[in-house]
This record gives sequence, C-alpha cells and structure tokens, in this order.
Amino acid sequence: MTYTVERSSTMHTILDPATEEVVTEVAGTSAEGTDAAIATARRAFDSWRGVAPADRARLLRRFADAVDEAIDELAALEVRNSGHTITNARWEAGNVRDVLHYYAGAPERLFGRQIPVSDGVDLTFKEALGVVGVIVPWNFPMPIAGWGFAPALAAGNTVVLKPAELTPLTAIRLGELALAAGLPEGVLTVLPGKGSVIGARFVTHPDVRKICFTGSTEVGKQIMAGAADQVKRLTLELGGKSANVVFADADLEQAAATAPYGVFDNAGQDCCARSRILVERSVYDRFLELFEPAVRRVKVGPPSEADAEMGPLISAQQRERVSSYVEGDGADVAFRGDSPQGRGYWYPPTVVLPSGADDRVWREEVFGPVVAVLPFDDEADAVAKANDSEYGLSGSIWTRDIGRALRVSRAVEAGNLSVNSHSSVRYSTPFGGYKQSGFGRELGPDALDPFTEVKNVFISTEG
Ligand code: NAD
Repeated sequence: MTYTVERSSTMHTILDPATEEVVTEVAGTSAEGTDAAIATARRAFDSWRGVAPADRARLLRRFADAVDEAIDELAALEVRNSGHTITNARWEAGNVRDVLHYYAGAPERLFGRQIPVSDGVDLTFKEALGVVGVIVPWNFPMPIAGWGFAPALAAGNTVVLKPAELTPLTAIRLGELALAAGLPEGVLTVLPGKGSVIGARFVTHPDVRKICFTGSTEVGKQIMAGAADQVKRLTLELGGKSANVVFADADLEQAAATAPYGVFDNAGQDCCARSRILVERSVYDRFLELFEPAVRRVKVGPPSEADAEMGPLISAQQRERVSSYVEGDGADVAFRGDSPQGRGYWYPPTVVLPSGADDRVWREEVFGPVVAVLPFDDEADAVAKANDSEYGLSGSIWTRDIGRALRVSRAVEAGNLSVNSHSSVRYSTPFGGYKQSGFGRELGPDALDPFTEVKNVFISTEG
C-alpha cells in the first residue's frame, strides 16, 4: 500500500485549554527535518548500542534525576499546555522519573539464554533494533512518551519522539533534560509537528525499525497497514470503552464514591476511563442514589489550583465531539456536576442513561467526562455486556466474593483489570489492550522484549 507523507511544516499555536490564551508557538518539523533527525539517530545508534551496560544504566539514572529536579517545572508546563490538574501533572512527571529508574536496571539484566544442544554451545542474545519512533497522543503527553523511550533506550535503541500537535511542550523539555543529563546527541530526539508529516515518515522510513504508537484506533489501523510494507515492528496502544462492573454484594458506598474518579480523571480523556458502568439490577437504583452526590462533589476548576480534581477538555474541537454524544444525540442525562462558565474548554461531569447497548454513547469512546450506566441481571449477563465492545483495554470489578472476582477477571476480555479499585497503571506491571485496543504491552518486566530481536548463535565444539 502507499502511505502518504505530507511534506509541509507549519507553526502550531499552543493554547491554554483552561483560558484559551496563547501559551507559545512551536515550529513543526518538516519531512526533510524528520529525515535528517532519523539519520542522526541512526548514526547515534552505532555508538549507543556499544555503550557499556553499566554506563547506559548510569546515564538513564542521571536523566531520571534531571526529571526529578524539574518536576515542578514540567508539571506547571503540563497544566498550561494540557489543562491537567496540578496534582495529576506532578504525578505524571514523577512517573517519567520512575519509569526511567525502573528501566535503568535493564541494560545490565538484558539476559540471553544458554540452551543445551549437542556438538556445541547455543546462545541467545537480545539485540537492539535501531531507531525506534515513538508517537504520542495529547491526553498523557509525559507518561506515554516515557513508557516508549525509557525501555527503548535501555535496550540500546535510539529514539525519535513525536508528541501530539496540541501538547508538545513537556516532550520538548524532556528532550533538553536528556541532553543536559549526558545522553549523546541523537539518542533521544523530539520532533514536534504534524502526524501526517513526521509520524507518517516514521512509517515509511526504512531506518525506523519499530513504531510505538499510542492514539486513536483509526490512526493506529492506518499505521498498521502502512507498516506492513516493511514488516515494521509495532506496538499499538489504542482506544478503550472500559466497563466498571458493580455486583450487588459489593461495598456499594465505596463503589459509588470512587466511580467518578474511574471515569472523570483527566476530564475523561483517558484511554482507561471506565465509561460504561454496569450495575446488578437489584442495586441499580440504590447505586444511582449514591453515585449522584459523588458526581456533584467532583471539584472542577482551574487546574493550577491545588484542590482541582478535574480541568477542562483539551480543545474546542474535543468539547464539540463530547457534546455530540449528549446534547447532539439528545441523550437522557440523569445528573451532572458543575463546571466553570466562560473561557476555557469546560464540560461538566455527566451521567447518562442509554436506552440500550446499541446507543452510540454506550458503544463509542467519548473521550470526555461522560459516563453511561446500564443494569445487568447476573454474572453471565455482566460478562457478556462487558465484552460486547470492540475494545478491551481496562475495567473494574466490584464484589466482596473473591471467587467471583477471579472468575469475572478471567472472563472479561481486557488487558488491565482491577478489583475493588480503579487503578490501571503501575510502572512495574504490564499495560496494554485486547481486541481493537491494540497489541503489545508496555511497562513492567517484559517491556524490553518488543524493543529487541532475539538472536540465536550456535558455536560448534567439534574441531
Ligand atoms: P490520534 O490518533 O489523532 O493522534 C495520536 C498521534 O498520532 C499524534 O501524535 C498524531 O499527530 C499522530 N498521527 C496522526 N496521524 C498520523 C499518521 N497518519 N501517521 C502517523 N502518526 C499520525 O489520537 P489523539 O486524538 O491524539 O489521542 C486520543 C486517542 O488516543 C484516544 O482514542 C485514546 O483512547 C488513545 N489513547 C490510547 C492509550 C492506550 O494506551 N491504549 C493511551 C492514551 C490515549
């Protein structure tokens, strides 16, 4: 197939989504600029892969320390660029530091095997791939960048990183911190600008040996089709429509009190958002009674304020998209929280009651603070409804019955489940999706593997 690469570069005006004020302008990288950066990264690979494992580890730790020292600065930048609450933004910068520290342990532990064979010795090596392209969406600019570049660099690859058009500022700063920490030029290069220029060039350029893409399922499919041409390695982290399944035997107070945070965190612009709540019919009304005050309690406001729990959406376009599912479709709104009026891309936490499992709001990823609630009849019905989705990224199960918790966890087709909690992400555990939520796993102990090729070498001992 022919994968089209645009050539033009443009200036991107970066707006503060909480105020609509211009923060700065960022020049987009051209196709030529992308090629030049890939060539530099290719040359840097020759020396980076030869850096002694302990030295590569030391450089990654220094990079982690530089991020740690810059946490306040990075967080403030993310608040202005992305409208993330200051609490979340600090966590996100800290997550980059932690992921770097975690994978700094990897260069010295990138073990191969010695496999028993006759007439010789058989060894395997985990070899770096070369230049890795990391393509990042706008919803979590810092963590998603780090989940790609930290293991890629630890395994001996060099990285070209493309942040989203709307949110390049923290990635640019991370690139500067890497250089200041001593990573050689070309080892981590940040290329702000358009997906159709830079991201597309990653797909077609033969020196980019792997792409780590996080973003929409639609663009992910295009990249997968384009990558086929060179049999390019891929990790895809795509959309989600995760279920929060509440059984009648659960701690209902706790399930209802925490449900808003399982979906409205980052204003619902979270691929793991539990945007479908399934409640056992016998406690459905009681759950909604408890859920309403919990939704109204969510503190929506200027994201730089220490007690803000939810900020604005990323853009006017995103607010329009979110609103199309509620106002546009005439959805049955059960209740809503508050949000500021006036400038900024605000949208209130919103709970809708779909007429059934065919409603658009139940099936499609809204990527905003909108959650739909439906009842279920029994365990089998809960599992069937949870799995009735093209996605399979995460989900929650609320029950006091440990047997049921395990049965349902095994039956739900999703990569990241939590029981009696809504946690999805820890840097030390794997993260990724089933079905159209993507493939490959990031984070955790196995995330190095997709950034390496296994090489088998047989050495004869016969003469
Ligand atoms: P998007 O697909 O529009 O863009 C993602 C990135 O791809 C951006 O950097 C963009 O510039 C680039 N891109 C666009 N067109 C391209 C092309 N033709 N070739 C190469 N790159 C291209 O997604 P978005 O709107 O920025 O992010 C929201 C989506 O990301 C949601 O669907 C969300 O669920 C998903 N997401 C998934 C995960 C996960 O881990 N599964 C995490 C976060 C976000």
